[in-house]
Amino acid sequence: MSDNSSLKETDIRPDHLMIEQQQRYKADVVRLLSRHDEFVFVNCPACDSSDSHPRYDKDGINYVTCDRCRMMYVNPRPTPDVLEFFYANSENYAYWNAHIFPASEEARRERIFRPRAERTLDICRKYGVSTNTILDAGAGFGTFCEEMKHLNIFERVIAVEPTPGLAETCRQKGLEVIAQPIEQVTLPSNSIDVVTSFEVLEHLFSPREFMQQCWRLLAPSGLLILTCPNGRGFDVQVLETLSNTVDAEHLNYFHPAAISQLAEACGFEVLEVTTPGKLDAELVRKRALSGEYDLSKDPFLQQVLIEEWDRVGSAFQTFLADNLLSSHMWLAARKRSEI
Ligand SMILES: [Zn+2]
Repeated sequence: MSDNSSLKETDIRPDHLMIEQQQRYKADVVRLLSRHDEFVFVNCPACDSSDSHPRYDKDGINYVTCDRCRMMYVNPRPTPDVLEFFYANSENYAYWNAHIFPASEEARRERIFRPRAERTLDICRKYGVSTNTILDAGAGFGTFCEEMKHLNIFERVIAVEPTPGLAETCRQKGLEVIAQPIEQVTLPSNSIDVVTSFEVLEHLFSPREFMQQCWRLLAPSGLLILTCPNGRGFDVQVLETLSNTVDAEHLNYFHPAAISQLAEACGFEVLEVTTPGKLDAELVRKRALSGEYDLSKDPFLQQVLIEEWDRVGSAFQTFLADNLLSSHMWLAARKRSEI
């Protein structure tokens, strides 16, 4: 990793703010676990099987792997009520909204949201969808919706954001906002051309309900475009509990076949699943170099990630991304007219 990209990483996550954020996050986890006796058991979010086996625990949360489709998920998990309480009172999200997002918005816009908007537009063009209305579920700070408005392709851009402070930020940016979880949105059926949702699915109690609601809202042949972690991607599989992706807020760790199965079951035709991640190898390498992850029993990874990093690191990451093995996943799916 070059000095230049380290600097950019700090632009996105300013060090002095991230230390405080970690404290807020820990307070959130304590608050979540204070209602652990209300957690409930669920079937696999992808294939609905009830058969699973324990994978590991982290911060008092139990992770299991589905015996049928091998998706990892949190079980037992907080109910929708507990999750609503958690996000409404989250110190972490309030802190992001008040400090981290404002301090890093321009860097985020350039590195994350503009490329995300352009990729979304590429997918829309590739599959030839109508461009009247786009709805972003989990709009957060509203930067993606702003970028979509700037691209001036869709006549109407709707931000759906349930966290009150973030919804207010979206409103102040002049966006059309619905301050509810997507599952509760009462817009007419068949009224949206494209639903986007970035890094939301992993947080949800019921990804199935979420997808069913997206299906209801979408016009016939409308597109669902979403991103979420790939639980069978390189850094999540290798680092396990050391991975930042494995955290108390992330309940669902889909993988390419699992997300496809759920989308098909909810009435979608899967157009593409990709894993265009750029950071897996670097994330594992960093943990190895800092001594947190021990590569001594894994001479091959030691060779690729440390000894011959300059020669093969970039090609190795490209191999992961090109073969559905990166931990960052995109899905594009089209609404079928009938389930
Ligand atoms: Zn399963």
